[in-house]
Amino acid sequence: MTTSAGGFNRTSRQRLQACHFSQDNPEVKQQPATDNITLSEVLRNLSLREYLAQEHGRTLEYGKNLQWYHGKISRETAVHILFENGNTDGLFLVRESTSVPGDYVLSLVKSGQPQHFQIHCCGDFFYQIESGPPFAGLENLISHYKESSDGLPTHLGAFCKGELPPPTTMKNGKDTPLHKVTSESNLNLMRELLREHSLVSKYIDARNSSGYTALQIAVDKGNYEMVMLLLDHEANVNTKDGGGVTALHHACMNNFPLICQLLVERGADPTARHHTTGWVPLHTAAQRGHSECVNQLLNMGVPRYPRNADEDTPYNIAVRYSNTNTSELLLRFVPPPPKTSYTEWFHGVKDRGYAIQQITMNGGGHGSFLVRTSTHKPDTYVLTMVAGGLYYNFEIETKVDGFHIDDGPFFSSLEYLVDHYQKYEDGLPCKLTVPCKPSTVVPLDNHRDAPPALGPRPPDMAVGAHQNAQQQKGPVNTSPTKVFSLFGKKKKNSKTSNEEKQDNLNIIDIKNIVQGRELGQGEFGSVLEGIMKDKHGKKHKVALKTLHAEHITTGQKEFLREAEVMCDLNHPCIVKLLGVVMGPPMMLVQELVPMGSLLDYLIDHANEVSEKDLKRWAWQISQGSLYLESKKFVHRDLAARNILLSTKDQAKISDFGLSRATKPESDYYRATTGGRWPVKWYAPESIYYGQFSHASDVWSFGVTLWEMYSMGDQPYGEKMGADVIKFIEDGNRLEKPEMCPQWVYEVMLKCWEYRKESRPTFETLCEMFLKSQ
Ligand code: ADP
Ligand code: MG
Repeated sequence: MTTSAGGFNRTSRQRLQACHFSQDNPEVKQQPATDNITLSEVLRNLSLREYLAQEHGRTLEYGKNLQWYHGKISRETAVHILFENGNTDGLFLVRESTSVPGDYVLSLVKSGQPQHFQIHCCGDFFYQIESGPPFAGLENLISHYKESSDGLPTHLGAFCKGELPPPTTMKNGKDTPLHKVTSESNLNLMRELLREHSLVSKYIDARNSSGYTALQIAVDKGNYEMVMLLLDHEANVNTKDGGGVTALHHACMNNFPLICQLLVERGADPTARHHTTGWVPLHTAAQRGHSECVNQLLNMGVPRYPRNADEDTPYNIAVRYSNTNTSELLLRFVPPPPKTSYTEWFHGVKDRGYAIQQITMNGGGHGSFLVRTSTHKPDTYVLTMVAGGLYYNFEIETKVDGFHIDDGPFFSSLEYLVDHYQKYEDGLPCKLTVPCKPSTVVPLDNHRDAPPALGPRPPDMAVGAHQNAQQQKGPVNTSPTKVFSLFGKKKKNSKTSNEEKQDNLNIIDIKNIVQGRELGQGEFGSVLEGIMKDKHGKKHKVALKTLHAEHITTGQKEFLREAEVMCDLNHPCIVKLLGVVMGPPMMLVQELVPMGSLLDYLIDHANEVSEKDLKRWAWQISQGSLYLESKKFVHRDLAARNILLSTKDQAKISDFGLSRATKPESDYYRATTGGRWPVKWYAPESIYYGQFSHASDVWSFGVTLWEMYSMGDQPYGEKMGADVIKFIEDGNRLEKPEMCPQWVYEVMLKCWEYRKESRPTFETLCEMFLKSQ
């Protein structure tokens, strides 16, 4: 088994039953014995050093069941540690992911075989394995899988002893001496602890048994000096408590305007949302009618009209709770003028290509941006920006309510919007930094500058009204599935049979589709550019893969199969399927990948392609393939013609016409019929026995690499299928392309090892190309 997600298998019923958000971990021992006595009393009989030594002992005792964490070790080391510890069923350890920052990996043993499962961080301290339920805190995830296998090949048993997991990954932790001095408002002792004891500083952001950090406790106490002292010692101002809110939310709950000010000055993010309700601190202050906090925050330039998960602004909330002073304040507040002017970044009606070119010419640094009017939607502005080398285009909607991006705050003008995103990331990939100035000033046509027309929303329309009315301390936890909406993740469906899969398909009515120019030719019809209107009447540019009438009998089944494969996939390196038009003509509606196929790009723009580009694409293709592997899909048609470029910086795998799910018990798919077989890209076992596996995809990946480094040459030149097979059987392989570095050629040769067991895995390939970036 090479898959990193070996055999994760759960039914939807099991998934629905799982609800593991707010319970406390039974393995975590509660309060230590000294808790009823104040620290000053304890220190009458003990020196501080002795007390800390005792506490350290307690920490070890407390963490006895949690020491399954091994830090950043490789998969090989993990396998070695499991082996050394007896390799018995259920033996496990947790390590930090080497490929995805913020993720972890669970390595376990089943029937003597090590298996590895990515623990995906889905925001803050929420973690999830595959399609399993999300858990608040790694400790709760592990505890759950100890009780039941719930989709894993075995429930977790004994662990290989390592250390305690990082404090920020745990929902609840242990009450530390720092928590204790904070609760007791003992400023002097806090000073001494922080000054003289490095361990205390190391765990400054740890949550206690109730889920609070020392900073949050200090805020709740309204103790300005303690808050300042903790911040001076680099307490993280934005850490969330176990209930999902920040210190700034706490200050707003308790009506401490000066502490609000201090926190914001020290970097508190006023756009931080509660993970299910979407409340930012201003919502919290508005609900409680804490006008001083509202005033303070508005004066510090936080957005006035952020929206929660129910689309309510703080104004709506204040009205609902009859907090008249607060709602008046929110309505009448006159914000200072924005610090930016449209003359710095507005370019008028321009397309995406122009925007990317301008930003690149302007240096293309992280956060560079411009605003333009869309060429195909005259009343829509688009923010084009670059982050981490990738280009993004965000539509700026201009509803009566105001200018906004997606579910972000409303603004009264484009300039206020830009001003905000220059200060806060607030859902964008990064803050806006350097504006890209137009060569001549373009007038801003729709230059509205009136406050958004925000009427109060009737309470019964607001889905969460009842829930919010109940809350006392902060926004409440709701069902686990809701967490996905704010992290922008759909709950995945892990059904496997064809009939069930059809349920997942988004069927699109043909009247919501406008067909445009041809983008390319597919086997069963042309691929067109098009426009799709979504449920909200919003229009999107899409690609339409059509099934021509003459292919209906042969193509329809293939087409639907392709749709079934794709509808379950969601990854930046995979072309997204948006839905299917049943037609006629039947169409697969896909995300538009504007720069077309990598093969064409290599042939047409060979002299613009650098080695860095090739390595990045290779990394992205291996990332996408690793993701497919985790979903247990073999692609069967990896080739440069089936890699598309959305920008020069983003390659995506497409064409799932040949892809198949592997059976749960095996890791290869056996093809029973012939059909179009791209033999030159196929591994020997695929050609001879119709066996397809992740390892045969690795072979094709090698050929794709060869195409890339030879700038789109035809592999094996004019040789025909049978000759290619003989060539390979004789032990020959494709030659090293001229500009290909030796190490990349060696990677190709490894991908073309005759025995599939000897080929590298996609995980290894990802690591190799990542390291070379
Ligand atoms: P086939 O399965 O018949 O090979 P593909 O899915 O590979 O069809 O599509 C054929 C061609 O159409 C591609 O090479 C590419 O040029 C174009 N194309 C396909 N999908 C998209 C898309 N999502 N965005 C832009 N162009 C696309
Ligand atoms: Mg194709």
